[in-house]
Amino acid sequence: MSNPTDTIFGKIIRREIPANIVYEDDLALAFTDVNPQAPVHILVIPKKPIVNIATAELEDQALLGHLLLTAQKVAAQAGLDNGYRLVMNTGNDAGQSVYHLHIHVLGGRSLSWPPG
Ligand code: 5GP
Repeated sequence: MSNPTDTIFGKIIRREIPANIVYEDDLALAFTDVNPQAPVHILVIPKKPIVNIATAELEDQALLGHLLLTAQKVAAQAGLDNGYRLVMNTGNDAGQSVYHLHIHVLGGRSLSWPPG
């Protein structure tokens, strides 16, 4: 039976569908976004299937810190020395489309503010 919490990102973690993986460790995976919104657009995800930051729990505290430092690492690896933006779309109003927590790492161009 399929896992009701599974998403396309679960399939990427299990290598059931391909992705351009730029970083992996025991807890996290990072891969380029299939529909990039900037010259560098990488997604950092936990291997644990947390839905989004709104449903994360105290027990996820260390993991969430690890994801931020992973975002720092992949941004440096991608050469984003002039800055970058980290985004976590959370729920309907933010336009979250994949319900597996992810940090967008966006950079390589000047990014406007506020977002739409
Ligand atoms: P959200 O809209 O939930 O914040 O972000 C989901 C992101 O996942 C989108 O930027 C979308 O382009 C990306 N995405 C969706 N499906 C796939 C996929 O199969 N492979 C990759 N690499 N990215 C995906």
